[in-house]
Amino acid sequence: KKGLTTGVLGPGSGYSATIGGGLSNSTAGFGSTKYGLVPEICIGVEVVLPNPQGTILRTGAAANRYAQPFCRYGVAPDFTGLFMGDVGTMGIKTKAFLKLSPDPPLKTRRDYMLHKDDYNKATEFIHKLQKEVKDGITDLMVVPSIVIDLKGLMAKERPPKKSEITGPVFQVGLEAFDQRILDVYIERVDEILKNDTRPFEMQEIDLTEPLTKDFKFNLKYAFNYFNQYISPAPPSIACTTCHKIPITHIAEAKKLSDEFEKIQKQKGTELTGAFATVIFTLPNGHCVIVGGLIGDNVDGKRQKAMNAWHARLRHQVRYGGVHYWLGEAISQSIVEADAFTPEFIQFFKDIKKTVDPNFLLSPKKFHMYNYEDDITKYIVKDE
Ligand SMILES: Cc1cc2nc3c(=O)[nH]c(=O)nc-3n(C[C@H](O)[C@H](O)[C@H](O)COP(=O)(O)OP(=O)(O)OC[C@H]3O[C@@H](n4cnc5c(N)ncnc54)[C@H](O)[C@@H]3O)c2cc1C
Repeated sequence: KKGLTTGVLGPGSGYSATIGGGLSNSTAGFGSTKYGLVPEICIGVEVVLPNPQGTILRTGAAANRYAQPFCRYGVAPDFTGLFMGDVGTMGIKTKAFLKLSPDPPLKTRRDYMLHKDDYNKATEFIHKLQKEVKDGITDLMVVPSIVIDLKGLMAKERPPKKSEITGPVFQVGLEAFDQRILDVYIERVDEILKNDTRPFEMQEIDLTEPLTKDFKFNLKYAFNYFNQYISPAPPSIACTTCHKIPITHIAEAKKLSDEFEKIQKQKGTELTGAFATVIFTLPNGHCVIVGGLIGDNVDGKRQKAMNAWHARLRHQVRYGGVHYWLGEAISQSIVEADAFTPEFIQFFKDIKKTVDPNFLLSPKKFHMYNYEDDITKYIVKDE
């Protein structure tokens, strides 16, 4: 229907991403600062279980044969949650019921550069903006200065005079139903950031970038975001390490990450990587640290990339990072880092056995190859 939106629009990986993938990966996408993760807009699913009978289930209100699928909670325990972020280990989603909300037609974006590379200040501003302009902000991203520098190097048309990059750039997406309300949001954002930032334009590093005053909401921008800037081309591959942390831990995580990188470089194991290519704010006082390593997917180098990737993931798990797109490398690293208690591992395996008695789906994820296997043998100690 026209004028309605799911709010969260999907990931930066592009138009090929599916609803099933977004629900199964617990995807954070454009709009997630306001509307949350893809599972948070899901009110129920239809799932085919990988058991010999091929059982078909519906969850949420749709579990009641007399009801329309209009809400998630009630009827029974929240079995929708069992299939959210499961990376396809629990069943195949064949339908999803999603929340729709009225789509505010007025949208704009403002960019600000911090005077210093100060992540304590950045945290303070994220808190303040979230508290005081909450409903207005659709996307709040912090782009580290090193990434702005890199974007400058990749510019299609460089300006004659390069501007000084002093700190991370805050990109603030705003929306409202009424121009007066949007103006108040812009005024509040300006007010909060005025002493420690300056207004920034991407044109300062690339003349082909539009000015923020000419910003027009465009799905293509969102879906080309990563492909335009940070996706490596084969044979290089992205060994992504996107994970969530509380906003208050950003500065500490940066420090630990820098220390880790130094040690890995001394050992000769680290590949090119960054603490974050962007910090993306989520609704409940936490954020996604989007980042990773670039590895070479060629014989002779592949294993080195995998080792470096797993080591970095384990390090992040151990400082309390919560990873969410749990493919083989990431889910295995969580197990290797000894994150799960024995009780949790047993519960997980029992649930898996109930829905997938022969462990057919994604047997390598979480090192969960079969029910009998003891996954604690994959724990990597003494790092
Ligand atoms: C360049 C790039 C940028 C990215 N940007 C983001 C981002 O901004 N935010 C983010 O969160 N992620 C991002 N990702 C990761 C990923 O692309 C997204 O999480 C995306 O939403 C996954 O959806 P997909 O349809 O591509 O799923 P796939 O990659 O095909 O699958 C993802 C997982 O879901 C399972 N799955 C897929 N469909 C179903 C189904 N119907 N039933 C059960 N299981 C299923 C698969 O087994 C797999 O484990 C990015 C990846 C790349 C390469």
